[in-house]
Amino acid sequence: MSASTLPQTHDQLASILEQVHLIGRESIAPHAEAVDRDARFPVEAFDALKSAKLLSCYVPEEFGGMGLTISDLSRICEALALHCGSTAMIFAMHQIQVACIVHHALGSTFFQGYIRDLVEKQYLLASATTELGIGGDVRSSLCAVNVTDGSFTLEKQAPVISYGEAADAILVTCRRAPDAGRNDQSHVLVRKEDCTLKPLSGWDTLGFRGTCSSGFTLTATGAAEQILPVPYAEIHAKTMHPFSHGVWSSLWLGIAMDAMSKARAFVRAEARKTPGTLPPSALRLAELDTVLFSMRGGVYQSIAEYNQLLREDAPDAFTSNYGFALRTNNLKIATSQFLVEVVGKAMIICGISGYRNDSKFSLGRHLRDAYGAQLMVNNDRILGQSSTIQVAMRES
Ligand SMILES: Cc1cc2nc3c(=O)[nH]c(=O)nc-3n(C[C@H](O)[C@H](O)[C@H](O)COP(=O)(O)OP(=O)(O)OC[C@H]3O[C@@H](n4cnc5c(N)ncnc54)[C@H](O)[C@@H]3O)c2cc1C
Repeated sequence: MSASTLPQTHDQLASILEQVHLIGRESIAPHAEAVDRDARFPVEAFDALKSAKLLSCYVPEEFGGMGLTISDLSRICEALALHCGSTAMIFAMHQIQVACIVHHALGSTFFQGYIRDLVEKQYLLASATTELGIGGDVRSSLCAVNVTDGSFTLEKQAPVISYGEAADAILVTCRRAPDAGRNDQSHVLVRKEDCTLKPLSGWDTLGFRGTCSSGFTLTATGAAEQILPVPYAEIHAKTMHPFSHGVWSSLWLGIAMDAMSKARAFVRAEARKTPGTLPPSALRLAELDTVLFSMRGGVYQSIAEYNQLLREDAPDAFTSNYGFALRTNNLKIATSQFLVEVVGKAMIICGISGYRNDSKFSLGRHLRDAYGAQLMVNNDRILGQSSTIQVAMRES
């Protein structure tokens, strides 16, 4: 990895990361076990993150936010995941929705006002892309937004909406109009007060239990100006796809780093019992660090590339950049697999202490969260898209 791909911790980021770790120690980690066990929203974490105005950290300074970059934000996701995977996942999913508005809607007077309100009130944004009958194909919708006389109505059968009940608004993908094709999609901001969520399914899952990703029939109304002013295809290429995989991979890296820390602490404790002789697990620890090295390198390199493309802001940087789309897919596939490998190897190092739920070296939550990563847009779907690009792309 070259020096230019290493993330720079400038003064503002360093002090934010310090604050995030403090919140992590005081308001996140102490509740992580209960959040996971009870599959409940991490309310203490979000009260603290809102007090620190971190829900608007990606909003440009001119609109009252901190103006952080995707690289900065990724470091925050990584840091949060050291304390609780579900909290980091909710934070990351919220920031993806903020980025959709920041990148694509700030030319609209309505969204300028909305983003200022988000900064002031620390709104939490959720997302409804998955749909009954479509599954996880983000670039297709069955439901459609219906606009008449400046107002819209929308109904979506959404089998998974993370923290749907705790959110202040939900960004929903749908067809642009009742007569539009499945891929001709819009992205609509639905406010909590204009929306009913009728339960479809609960959220009793293996991992990421605190995301409370229950299913709902979402029925909403609102003003037509709440529809993001560009086609969803554009939002997907520039933001939803690369931003999601960037921030998700960063928090998966954080979970992996925490598993590594537990393994290291375990080996150190073993080493202290036999001064002068390294325990056999020390070799496994060194081996594990090389896996983590590859994972970290891939995450930082991909995010640096994305950050650079966003900075250059070239008109077709995303819509026709198949190489970048492919590398983004590779990032997601690789990091979601590395995560399972790292946590699994850490479990072997910690042995029964890692397997137990009542030990300080317990890795059960990490392992259960780790398996969710491959499903957040199913890896087989992503490999399917990549294989099409691989065959169609010309050698340069
Ligand atoms: C923790 C967590 C939080 C989530 N939060 C949200 C949320 O807030 N909002 C939201 O909308 N969704 C959310 N999701 C859903 C997620 O984005 C995916 O839509 C969902 O996990 C995909 O489930 P699936 O793999 O069963 O479905 P699908 O992607 O539909 O896949 C079903 C099966 O078909 C196969 N398959 C389907 N299509 C293809 C293809 N083209 N090529 C190869 N194989 C294919 C897959 O391998 C799989 O076996 C969340 C998921 C998780 C795990």
